[in-house]
Amino acid sequence: MAMVKTAGTLDLYAELGMRRVVNASATLTRLGGSLMPPPVIEAMVQASRSFIDLPELQRRVGERIARATKNEAAYVCCGAAAGLTLATAACVTGTDPAKIGRLPRDLDGLKDEVVVHKSQRNGYDFAVRQAGVRLVEIGPSVAELDRAIGERTAAVLYFAGRLAEGSLPLETVVEVAHRRGVPVVVDGAAQIPPIANLWAYTQAGADLATFSGGKGLRGPQTSGLILGRADLIEAVRLNGPPNQAIGRPMKVGKEEMLGLLAAVEWSLSLDEPALLARYERQVARVVDAVRNIPGVAAERDFPSEAGQPMPRALVRFDAAALGFDRDEVVRRLGEGDPYVEVAKSGADGIWINPQTLEDGEEAIVVDRLLAALGQRRGR
Ligand SMILES: *Cc1c(COP(=O)(O)O)cnc(C)c1O
Repeated sequence: MAMVKTAGTLDLYAELGMRRVVNASATLTRLGGSLMPPPVIEAMVQASRSFIDLPELQRRVGERIARATKNEAAYVCCGAAAGLTLATAACVTGTDPAKIGRLPRDLDGLKDEVVVHKSQRNGYDFAVRQAGVRLVEIGPSVAELDRAIGERTAAVLYFAGRLAEGSLPLETVVEVAHRRGVPVVVDGAAQIPPIANLWAYTQAGADLATFSGGKGLRGPQTSGLILGRADLIEAVRLNGPPNQAIGRPMKVGKEEMLGLLAAVEWSLSLDEPALLARYERQVARVVDAVRNIPGVAAERDFPSEAGQPMPRALVRFDAAALGFDRDEVVRRLGEGDPYVEVAKSGADGIWINPQTLEDGEEAIVVDRLLAALGQRRGR
């Protein structure tokens, strides 16, 4: 990072009156997603230095990401949510310009339904409906899935990870959908690590899979990936920027394209078992630091909030014993600069997630947690 002045960046935040966050919560968009490692920043700086043919860069970057992730084709979008809109649009229109021009309002006679498990419904299905389609809900049964698929079905949508708990397995959904000639789109936005998910869904038969660039991949926050079938990626491309189509407002810059390419390559080069071992150490350090405090219970919890195979610390507070409750602990952690963000668990607990902590940063969390518990003078 030799040429990047970190101190200068922090000064800009300070100048704006922004406090810094130690993020022990998750790869939340509202906190900035994730932190880009130096190779990603360098790639973005390089990209910023000259004009290029943007659609051609999109193709070249896509080809390289596709090869690296064992997929037929790849497309860089501005986030997994945009990926859902573009993937849906692609399933509705294919590569037909006349159909592309009709989204999102005039879907008469087009396939305008997307099938989804009722239990998987969540805020992000807004991004699917944005293409103009209607969601058709099913329960976790092959018969219901089969019945829900008809003339108007553009795709079956599948949210991987924790949201898929209690759903039909992806393989079953693929089998039923493909028998009816309908593509399956997987949302894997927050499902990295494990990095193998970049090919696991498509190898399981999904036609398209979307991922956030700014979560586990640690690419630019405003980047995302759509991976999968070449013909559908071509349809995504035609619906996407800079074409005057539904995806035009979902612009992706040259900096994001090179940045995400660097992030994918950097993520693939990581020693994932070592990374997961580091997460275990960070969790253990938090648990060990507070577990013997009267009124506090701490344990390793598994899996992550999104259902990824990685640990987090779960710390519970007995308000009667402590004289203050969980919300007061969270309030205390939220004071100062930097302040610590954690996720609430149930009525009396917090989760501390190592995924968004740098190596060693758990010490700050421990320090602030002990201070919040009156075990150490606050800073
Ligand atoms: C974060 C998330 C998204 C949106 O991803 P962005 O890259 O922020 O657009 C979509 N779906 C799920 C399940 C997510 O967790």
